[in-house]
Amino acid sequence: MHSFRYIQGRLHCENVDLESLSAKHGTPLYVYSKETITDHYKRLDGALDRLDHLICYAVKANSNLAILQTIADLGGGFDIVSGGELYRVIQAGGRASQCTFAGVGKTRAEIEYALQQGIYSFNAESEAELRQINEVAGSLGKKAPVALRVNPNVDAKTHKYISTGKSENKFGVDFDRILDAYAAIATECEHLEIRGLQMHIGSQLTSIDPFVEAAKKVAPLVEKLKERHHIKFFSIGGGLGIVYRESLDSGDQTWWGEKEEAERPLTIQSYADALVPILEPLKLRILLEPGRFMVGNAGALLSKVLYLKKGNAKKFVIVDAGMNDLIRPALYEGWHQITPLQKAEGAELEKVDVVGPICETGDFLAQDRELPPVQAGDTLAVLSAGAYGFTMASNYNSRPLAAEILVDGSEAHLVRERQTLDDLVRGEHLVQK
Ligand code: PLP
Repeated sequence: MHSFRYIQGRLHCENVDLESLSAKHGTPLYVYSKETITDHYKRLDGALDRLDHLICYAVKANSNLAILQTIADLGGGFDIVSGGELYRVIQAGGRASQCTFAGVGKTRAEIEYALQQGIYSFNAESEAELRQINEVAGSLGKKAPVALRVNPNVDAKTHKYISTGKSENKFGVDFDRILDAYAAIATECEHLEIRGLQMHIGSQLTSIDPFVEAAKKVAPLVEKLKERHHIKFFSIGGGLGIVYRESLDSGDQTWWGEKEEAERPLTIQSYADALVPILEPLKLRILLEPGRFMVGNAGALLSKVLYLKKGNAKKFVIVDAGMNDLIRPALYEGWHQITPLQKAEGAELEKVDVVGPICETGDFLAQDRELPPVQAGDTLAVLSAGAYGFTMASNYNSRPLAAEILVDGSEAHLVRERQTLDDLVRGEHLVQK
């Protein structure tokens, strides 16, 4: 489900009128719903209750402290990919002992920091990285808990930039080399403690089949690792897809609609029904690393219309949010539903490009999109922007980062202030003459 809906013709997040937020805090503005995040967490948690499991939210999807606090309060763990993300988790009240540390390029300083904080597991992606972790652990007089990421060579059937489980991707250790890699750790790395096995085949999966194929392929390997190295957990990664198209109407994650196959959401129940029977017999702790599923539909980006421009070929709606605020359309051809804050009942739709102010042709939020007529000064909501939205934002074109709001019922909390011009140049120095 999500919590963005029209109430008497005005778009609300939970009980908060979005027009009031844009008037008070300005735009571009990210708005998140606590209710949606909580609902998604509890649904996933509940669907897996037959398994000994831990949801390790993938912090990269949205790392605002208040979002991490919400997940920590629900009892969740975290999947991190940098020392910075671990720092955020700790600042938000999360525990390192509930964190897994993923990523292909952990630095020595990050490994030291994570070891000192008592990380649950380093999910290593190469044998070279394992040796580095071993060496750092030895120098600190510690044993580092580790798992290897297996690359199962399964096609996730998602956008090529977010597919991670094929042999040609940079992620993980090849399936046929993994047993040798574990044997090498056991014999050569005295400062490592083998704790688990991890995989993650890609993001925004809209079909259950690749998850099942990967789990079935890797389960016998898990059995062997349990027998030989007494592993304690198996992490099946994240990747659960969400509804982007017409997400305002769909509302419910159980919705299937008349949509094309690629746009049908996976339901949590279908995910659990397919995977629990494969995972339960392993009798291990199962970790999950959902990012997008937890926060994607929980967020919207509000942006004001600055100008309208009619060219020979197209009509442009120029808004004050650009690819620096939300890069998914430019980077992954990501599609987001865009809707005005005031419902335009019965208005004739116009085909427009919604573009930002940045000096790049790729700076668009939507192309050839049918929208009700809008005017300069109107505010639009770009929906399903809660995942990989703010976390991928940049200061490109020296644009200050947007503010972020977390809505909880009738309350709206400012959880990140808008950057100021002073913030933009903080830490920079003129050369002394
Ligand atoms: N786990 C790992 C190792 C990842 O690389 C990612 C995403 O890149 C995730 C989990 C989260 O993926 P998603 O947001 O699709 O659930």
